[in-house]
Amino acid sequence: MPSLGHHTRFAPSPTGRLHLGHALAALVAWERSRGGGQFLLRIEDLDEGRSRVEYELGIAEDLRWLGLDWPQPSMRQSQRGLAYADALRQLADQGLVYPCFCTRSEIANEVARSAQAPHGPEGLLYPGTCLALPEKERRGRLERGDAHALRLDMKAALKLVAGALCWKDELRGIQVASPAAFGDVVLARKDALASYHLAVVVDDASQGVTLVTRGEDLFEATHVHRLLQELLGLPVPDYEHHRLICDEQGRRLAKRDESRSLEQLRREGWSPQQVREALMPI
Ligand code: GLU
Repeated sequence: MPSLGHHTRFAPSPTGRLHLGHALAALVAWERSRGGGQFLLRIEDLDEGRSRVEYELGIAEDLRWLGLDWPQPSMRQSQRGLAYADALRQLADQGLVYPCFCTRSEIANEVARSAQAPHGPEGLLYPGTCLALPEKERRGRLERGDAHALRLDMKAALKLVAGALCWKDELRGIQVASPAAFGDVVLARKDALASYHLAVVVDDASQGVTLVTRGEDLFEATHVHRLLQELLGLPVPDYEHHRLICDEQGRRLAKRDESRSLEQLRREGWSPQQVREALMPI
């Protein structure tokens, strides 16, 4: 039996219309909030280039059609710059943040040159080029205003952690986080206030989320999130990583699968009840 009465959130990016996979994510969050909890909506619009207001409006329309409601106004990540800056400062004060001036292709070339070309759960592992920059060069480039991301010094961060980092996963049981495999993850991007990892952790805490429900494609990310919670002194929610909805070829539904958008299904005459039934068990 799933546990109920939680503060949960549905956290879509407004980069397309919602499809059946999103409907499952929203309904899982909604169901787990029944019995005295609260369902929240969070708009993850940090990717300015791809986020559109019309998609944001579509998200609200689709969720209301499904019969969900949530407190207004919803949290929007594009308005959370101060909270992210504060978290970055906390990490920097612990000596855990460094600027990275590398472009994607520089990283790929550097990795290709190394014998093992190490990979982590998110693809190529950052080889630490900018961690090794002499302080003078680093300062000079910052003063020049060179574009840079901010990265977590993973080795230094792990040294600060005493004991195992655990989380309770509703479907997989107690998990022990092993974030080392991710290497020096990005905390803030050249063109965004915060990376997905940082923003999600800060926002879940700030919204008082007690159960994070999301697709199992994000299971691995929880290793990093658990570490960031520890470094930032944030409460640790429980997690439920639910199944993903796939098409006939077994591929995960994506925003480009417009035929499966809730808007399209509605036009074809589907009722919210039919959507629910198609997604059982929720
Ligand atoms: N914004 C993410 C997505 O649309 C979800 C993030 C999360 O639930 O942690 O896939």
